[in-house]
Amino acid sequence: MFATFETGDLTTYPQRLETLLDKQRHAIDRLARQASPTYASLMKPLQDLDEERALFFTPLEHLHSVADAPDVRTAYEACLPLLSAFDSWLYRHRALYDQIASLHSDDPEAARVLNDTVRDFRLAGVDLDAEARERLTQIDRQLSEQSNAFETHLLDATQAHEWILDRPEDVAGMPLADREAARIETPEGIRYRFSLQMPSYTAYMTYGPNRALRRELYQAYTTRAPENGTVIDRLLALREEKARLLGFDHYAHYALQTRDAETVETVESFLEQLLTSARPQAEREMARLKAYALETDGIETLAPWDVAYYSERLKKELYAYDAALTRPYFPLERVVSGLFAWLTEWFGIAFEPIEVPVWHPSVRVWQLTEADRIVGRIYLDLETRPTKHGGAWMHNWESRFVDQAGRTHAPSAFVVANFAAATPTVPSLLRHDDVVTLFHEMGHAIHHLFSRTHERAVSGIHGVAWDAVEFPSQFLEHFAYEATILKRFGFHYQTGEPIPETLLETLHRARNFQAALGILRQVELALFDLQLHQKSYRGDAVHALLERIRERTALLPPPEWNRFEHGFSHIFAGGYAAGYYSYKWAEVFSADAFHASHDPHRGFEADRARTYREHILSRGASSPMRTLYQNWLGHAPRLESLMRLYAIGVSDA
Ligand SMILES: [Zn+2]
Repeated sequence: MFATFETGDLTTYPQRLETLLDKQRHAIDRLARQASPTYASLMKPLQDLDEERALFFTPLEHLHSVADAPDVRTAYEACLPLLSAFDSWLYRHRALYDQIASLHSDDPEAARVLNDTVRDFRLAGVDLDAEARERLTQIDRQLSEQSNAFETHLLDATQAHEWILDRPEDVAGMPLADREAARIETPEGIRYRFSLQMPSYTAYMTYGPNRALRRELYQAYTTRAPENGTVIDRLLALREEKARLLGFDHYAHYALQTRDAETVETVESFLEQLLTSARPQAEREMARLKAYALETDGIETLAPWDVAYYSERLKKELYAYDAALTRPYFPLERVVSGLFAWLTEWFGIAFEPIEVPVWHPSVRVWQLTEADRIVGRIYLDLETRPTKHGGAWMHNWESRFVDQAGRTHAPSAFVVANFAAATPTVPSLLRHDDVVTLFHEMGHAIHHLFSRTHERAVSGIHGVAWDAVEFPSQFLEHFAYEATILKRFGFHYQTGEPIPETLLETLHRARNFQAALGILRQVELALFDLQLHQKSYRGDAVHALLERIRERTALLPPPEWNRFEHGFSHIFAGGYAAGYYSYKWAEVFSADAFHASHDPHRGFEADRARTYREHILSRGASSPMRTLYQNWLGHAPRLESLMRLYAIGVSDA
């Protein structure tokens, strides 16, 4: 029923992939030649082929991110061009497209699959003439070259600067871990090295006591890679041309075709509302920060390079909170079993440990069951290792669906994190924000694993719009701040004592610190991104647009030389062009769902948990998220819920 995790001989991986893709090309050509295709005779086998490719390639892709080694990387890098060539062949297959476009289904899930598939073929340019298709191919290649150039310039500029400090007073008061990370031994004695790389830059901006030095770092950071100005112009021109070729008047319009937010206007008015609601409190937060800097250090004019530094000190003073305080209460094993027990209680699905092949001895696997039915499998790989890529993520592997032969497949997923590794004497202990991360990734995992759809293309997280996919993860995350939940597994790893109430209260309150300022910053970036992709901004007009938006969003205007946009990788080198708003968009869903479901005494309101599973988790992308949501709670997500979540408008800020 489940695939076995294995990669076999890595040196033959690319060849084996090519053999599989060849076989699939022939199969697809045959499918496209059917005399009278039906959904069952065309779409079912196509989805089976998708699953076959995912089953084969995901283990290598996964290994590349959790056990990176030269042979893994070589195999992985050799496979990527094969897959991308296959994709462009598939999505420009005119005969196949014509067959699909002629189909109809009365089954809502199947109808949705047809609708999305036709849309994706069209957005890939299948119905353009040969010349336009050729141009589109060139544009896509140039777009990826320019994005690479953007990232390379940024990387080079980031590595070009370093500061070697020899005066102890320049690092006085900094956390030990940050000082240790910066410490170097030279023939002249101990020195401290800081750079524009993360986390070195953030460490100095947050804790570095030398104000002049903070300004120097800030200036170097925000004027990096001026040559990216030209790259931005090229990217914007190419995106605009691509959108026009495909029949859209601007890139934002094209990008929103695959999103949950239906129109550019909807997103803009959402961002404007967010700005209006958060601004009064943001002004109070800023006034308080300025007053604090004046009181403590006589800072008459707070500068952008002071913000993180005084915010951190003010936060410490207000909440007496130190992330290290929570660690003894959150031993990894106990957090995981507590989280699983909680999920079982509310969703009725049990987690049973099983022994199956894995990629590292510390990886653990659970089988999910409900009554006698096997629901899925989850692999947890949570402790940090040198060969693992940074951060945390959920990676889906198998999918729940019914194949062409009528067999039901069960889903599986990997949850990966980089929590502190256990030592021979101390277990892995989590900070509270690690617990939040684990809840977040589990939110993605259950979205994939609790699926009950019969069509693979809309199963679990497949086909879920980018601006909606973070809803289930953020939703679960909100519960990780709740005392009733944390108390279930928060016990001191040595004494067994429960986590103190005062600490739980602090966690909850500290979450809202400067929340409104944070929202304003996100609105600034999202508005800039969205407006930039609606008109032909080039050259100085790009920065002028940002300046204009900042008049309303930046309560402490950055200096005239700040060129933040030259480092805005999300939209110029990542996949977020005309999509930066997605974070906040999904957060409104998650905040509203939280208010509808949260029970202060028991955590999750029992009936809501059942219906959340039924209306959201089990449905995958079988309908747009806004429709699923409406069916679940009977209303659209409300922006006020986000304000309530962060206590904006009612807090003591
Ligand atoms: Zn996420």
